[in-house]
Amino acid sequence: MKINKVMVIGAGQMGAGIAQVFAQAGFNVLLHDQDEDSLHRGMQNIDKLLSRAVAKERITEAEKKETLERLTPTSELRDVSNCDFVIEAVVENIDVKTRVFSDLDSYAPEHAILASNTSSLPITEIAASTDRPDQVIGMHFMNPVPVMKLVEIIRGLQTSDATYQAIQAVTEQLNKTPVEVKDFPGFVSNRVLMPMINEAIYTVYEGVASPEDVDTVMKLGTNHPMGPLTLADFIGLDTCLYIMEVLQDGFGDSKYRPCPLLRQYVQAGWLGKKSGRGFYQYD
Ligand code: NAD
Repeated sequence: MKINKVMVIGAGQMGAGIAQVFAQAGFNVLLHDQDEDSLHRGMQNIDKLLSRAVAKERITEAEKKETLERLTPTSELRDVSNCDFVIEAVVENIDVKTRVFSDLDSYAPEHAILASNTSSLPITEIAASTDRPDQVIGMHFMNPVPVMKLVEIIRGLQTSDATYQAIQAVTEQLNKTPVEVKDFPGFVSNRVLMPMINEAIYTVYEGVASPEDVDTVMKLGTNHPMGPLTLADFIGLDTCLYIMEVLQDGFGDSKYRPCPLLRQYVQAGWLGKKSGRGFYQYD
């Protein structure tokens, strides 16, 4: 299937990045958000990132202009009626996502593929809210989207081979590397990463070492570019807790129990970089 026009839903951290990479790869993109301020902020962030890329001589001024010309903001979901492909990046909440997919199923053309950028929710359940579960798929971009090469492609129980192949090809057109993953809690990235972060938090909780020392051990001892507690602060401690709960519920295995210290930090509103305090303090 030839994909020309794309709609990205949600103009937040991930949605804006996804819209940018699609536009840079030559696709015509509609960026939709239900909130006008978020939509405006998303477009501004794209402009800012493209200007930075021009300053660093990664792209030319002309390429920046062409990319922006391919991007159109809209607060109207019904504009999806002439799109071939949709990627949803709204909040990580199953009720919100299934509502969006049910609406998309009504408004998007019959041939359109509907993808979700969820980092933990079941694609099979999201797909079941539509009458085209064979055309629903997970496309899990990493943060920051313009920089990170990986896209986990998650096949729901009913995702067809044709849908998978179309999305694999699109991912390659974005100059990213697709990896096929089945629809199980945490997929691969978060199933491996989050228990490691949770265990790092346990070492602090049990007084084995300070956050700085845990991060130094992992950076210098195992060649991680960033320590697990710094990374947790960047991801957001509420998100880390949420994903551990998804793993614990999904597998029913106590090895995924979230560390009590993680839960307490989230209760205190210490959510990491975004709230100014997590394992470290931020200005
Ligand atoms: P965010 O909070 O920055 O952005 C979400 C946006 O969705 C907001 O602008 C909000 O106004 C909009 N929105 C909410 N409900 C909507 C609706 N019904 N219709 C239209 N717009 C709506 O969130 P984010 O960090 O960009 O995450 C988005 C998705 O990407 C989540 O599913 C998250 O799990 C996933 N994800 C996040 C990361 C990350 O590191 N932040 C990484 C990979 C995947």
